Amino acid sequence: MQTLALSVIKSDQPEKWQEILSDLITDPKELLADLKLDTTANPLAALAAKGLAQFPLKVPRPFAARMEPGNWDDPLLRQVWPSSLEDVESDSLSLDPLQETHFNKTPGLLQKYHGRVLLTAAPHCAVHCRYCFRRHFDYAANTPGRREWSESIAYISENPDISEVILSGGDPLAAGDSYLAWLLAEVDRIPHVETIRIHSRLPIVIPQRVTAQLCSMLSELRSKSVFITHCNHPQEIDGEVQAALKAIRHAGSTLLNQAVLLKGVNNYADSLIKLSTTLFQSDVLPYYLHLPDRVTGTGHFIVNESEALKLMASVRSHLPGYLVPQLVREDPGNNSKTRLA
Ligand SMILES: *Cc1c(COP(=O)(O)O)cnc(C)c1O
Ligand code: SF4
Repeated sequence: MQTLALSVIKSDQPEKWQEILSDLITDPKELLADLKLDTTANPLAALAAKGLAQFPLKVPRPFAARMEPGNWDDPLLRQVWPSSLEDVESDSLSLDPLQETHFNKTPGLLQKYHGRVLLTAAPHCAVHCRYCFRRHFDYAANTPGRREWSESIAYISENPDISEVILSGGDPLAAGDSYLAWLLAEVDRIPHVETIRIHSRLPIVIPQRVTAQLCSMLSELRSKSVFITHCNHPQEIDGEVQAALKAIRHAGSTLLNQAVLLKGVNNYADSLIKLSTTLFQSDVLPYYLHLPDRVTGTGHFIVNESEALKLMASVRSHLPGYLVPQLVREDPGNNSKTRLA
């Protein structure tokens, strides 16, 4: 679709979001100083030596600005702070609990479920969420350049059963618009692809990423588009985030959110209820609430199933059905995500 590629205005000036992306907070000391956190009083202050070496600190400044100074329990800080709890080893944790490497069909393409494939469209994220199930993922080996994508595009073209293509990552919106426009156009021109889905945390952590240009790319797609944001706590949504989300909705995408249930972040009924209502104010409906996967380095976030079910009962008793996310877990080898009743 040439129109799509042509609508991308070439500019030598980095855009605002690109400046923010190249100026992330990467030094834990800087984050501590910005938030005026007292390191003597809290056990969380000790850093993860191993965890940080594997998965460095990355926090966009607009996200840090929504944290409450002086509060070690801040739900946004908890999601990005590399405490020494990450270095705790446990037999129940592993590097690849989802066995994703088994589902790699062609470079950058995973297929686990009928009718839909997932492309690891970008090799990095704007933020490093400490609970990330892909924190050990070898993006360098799994993110093709434009030329290498041809094998995956051919795979989709040759399989008429594939009706939905999911751009995930890393974070697909961490890539620039011209690459994104190119990849979207490659997928959009395959006649049997009915839906293109984008999974991204960028509208939440750097809302400036949702530019007019990005919105016009979405609205020009022939396929239906679904945009899944990733927000875990209502405090992540400020006025700018809300405007960005509304702009995506306005561009014609169905807008949904997935969250992860995280101990110390959002394992409280009132947080989950407010998350749903705040998302709805921003034109977003809740989709999934994931139980965290048992990945090395993330044990301190795990909420057990019986606690999760109790929380969901409370959420259900306070909200209309359309604001209740589906509680799911991922079990390798299943033909869909596992719903917990
Ligand atoms: C989660 C996931 C999907 C999407 O599943 P839905 O239930 O349709 O949201 C697709 N492919 C892979 C590899 C996934 O992990
Ligand atoms: S944005 Fe998603 S993929 Fe990236 S670090 Fe966070 S949870 Fe992981």
